[in-house]
Amino acid sequence: METFLLNLAYLVASVGFIIGLKMLGSPKTARKGNLIAAFGMTLAILATIFIYPHTAQIKVPGFVYALIFTAIAIGTIIGWGIAVKVEMTKMPELVSFFNGMGGATAALIGLLEFHHNVGNPGKMFMVIAGMVIGSISFAGSMIAWAKLSGKMRKPVRLPSYNILNTLMAILIIALGAYIIYTGVANPAYIYALFALSLLYGVLFVLPIGGADMPVVISLLNSFTGLAAAFGGFLYDNMAMLTGGILVGSAGTILTIAMTKAMNRSLTSVIFGAFGEGSNAAAGSGTKIQGNVKEAGPSDAAILLNYANKVIIVPGYGLAVAQAQHVLHELEELLSKKGIDVKYAIHPVAGRMPGHMNVLLAEANVDYDKLVDMDDINNEFKNTDVVLVVGANDVVNPAAKNDPSSPIYGMPILNVEDAKNIIVNKRSMKPGYAGIENELFYNPKTSMLFGDAKSALTKVVQELKGM
Ligand code: NDP
Repeated sequence: METFLLNLAYLVASVGFIIGLKMLGSPKTARKGNLIAAFGMTLAILATIFIYPHTAQIKVPGFVYALIFTAIAIGTIIGWGIAVKVEMTKMPELVSFFNGMGGATAALIGLLEFHHNVGNPGKMFMVIAGMVIGSISFAGSMIAWAKLSGKMRKPVRLPSYNILNTLMAILIIALGAYIIYTGVANPAYIYALFALSLLYGVLFVLPIGGADMPVVISLLNSFTGLAAAFGGFLYDNMAMLTGGILVGSAGTILTIAMTKAMNRSLTSVIFGAFGEGSNAAAGSGTKIQGNVKEAGPSDAAILLNYANKVIIVPGYGLAVAQAQHVLHELEELLSKKGIDVKYAIHPVAGRMPGHMNVLLAEANVDYDKLVDMDDINNEFKNTDVVLVVGANDVVNPAAKNDPSSPIYGMPILNVEDAKNIIVNKRSMKPGYAGIENELFYNPKTSMLFGDAKSALTKVVQELKGM
């Protein structure tokens, strides 16, 4: 009976993960999906704590339960506290930190289970694989977190680090294989392997440039999923296995999607150093000459007021300024005037996948108005006014025209095809890739300088008076 109940709980949990993940695919259902997956996880945890001991005929002393629930309470309070406070722009660091904790857990499972499985090569393989991958993910995620939070700025390149890394990887595999096949019981071996894996994780992420960090995080995320899946095999735990596989495959798919959207191969992410202000070395792009036309809020309001079709292009600056609410107000105001308004969403606008969708959803923007790059790129040529708010790299024509540019080849929004372009940002400073943007010098472009929130507020006021 207990085994049936345990399996039922794990089955319901696994289904919860799958449905939850599916629902994360659309902003409309994402919140509910997250809750369903969290419900599945809670069910799996409770079943493991209360039902599993009966099926395995383990007598759990009261103080162990007290310890478990104290640990859960501490973890919940800390996790909740951090997640509630975090700013949207700091989300990638948070994801990296939490992912690192998942890796650490998988590594600890490996360390604890070592002596239980000496002499059983099949299970020892799971122990070693989970421990090694989890440790790499933990150490790598901590470095990624330090880089994203600005605690570590420059990529560190050790001399011939490619060779060093390859040698380390070979050493780790050899030592792991030795432990599995000889069945050594001395824990010194597993600790040595643990230390080597941590070092490898550090060396793996250390040379990678800041702009590529989110790609690396999603790669590390897939590592953590894989490590958890090995734990699932080890414990014969269906929920852990399904959860691990889902995280592993979702991480892998996201990694591929992000590298595609940035037009970078995974090898160039791992071996390059893009986005550290060191782009001069990678080809600094052509120096742009020309005039910049400035516009005030009333000029911008007039242009918008007399348009039939407007496309808004949000970027990282919108998130920085927290101007999503006033932007939504502007959009509604224009729609009420009978103007067709849409948002063009570039897959890597902002600093994390889906950043703009999340931001605009927060301001209750109608999801149907958010149009993906591939679907909207042909519409710019029939558009009267494009309003670019705090976006830069994702609208930089150098990605199409300048082979010497570090972003050459990245798909961008064809903003320059529109009849008029208004660009709101605070200065002429470059965006994340650290390069100039010829769009700002285009005769069709008017620069509306200022913080997005205050500039858009002024435009809204002007429009209300028209
Ligand atoms: P960018 O970083 O290219 O540009 C943002 C612009 O916003 C800046 O030029 C800045 O100019 C302006 N800005 C900053 N603060 C404000 C403010 N308060 N008000 C108005 N404007 C402001 O952003 P994009 O979204 O165009 O491009 C994203 C970049 O990030 C791409 O290079 C992408 O590859 C990269 N990236 C994206 C990831 C993702 O998953 N989405 C992951 C990793 C990297 P100024 O200082 O003059 O105001």
